[in-house]
Amino acid sequence: MTETGPSMSTALRRGALCSCPQCGEGRLFRKFLKVADSCESCGEELHHHRADDMPAYIVMSIVGHIVVGLVLWAEFTYAPPVWVHWSLWLPLTVVLTLALLQPVKGFIVALQWKLGMHGFGARKAALAPAPVSTS
Ligand SMILES: [Zn+2]
Repeated sequence: MTETGPSMSTALRRGALCSCPQCGEGRLFRKFLKVADSCESCGEELHHHRADDMPAYIVMSIVGHIVVGLVLWAEFTYAPPVWVHWSLWLPLTVVLTLALLQPVKGFIVALQWKLGMHGFGARKAALAPAPVSTS
């Protein structure tokens, strides 16, 4: 089977930028975390994704490493009162989480699309040119 479409890195970059992994023109999301059924630009079907909770797990890991590292650094360096910790780290956690959820979900959807996972594989197989018979 021949590889068609954008490379893996291009598809993942497009997904992380919240655009269609196939063409890079259409929007991947129709609402904050609702993936569009199809690309408004090229018509690529996007509803086959099964991102489920994976983006949330990845975002929790990223944000947790950043915030916990900063909390420990601040505590051991400055030893601020607890109210300072709460007023710094709670808003930072919320902002980082909201900022990362959509790009991470776009990345996961693009990964599934590129690997042909779930319904994406059947769609690509249906669109692939038929093999040439040599007999
Ligand atoms: Zn597209």
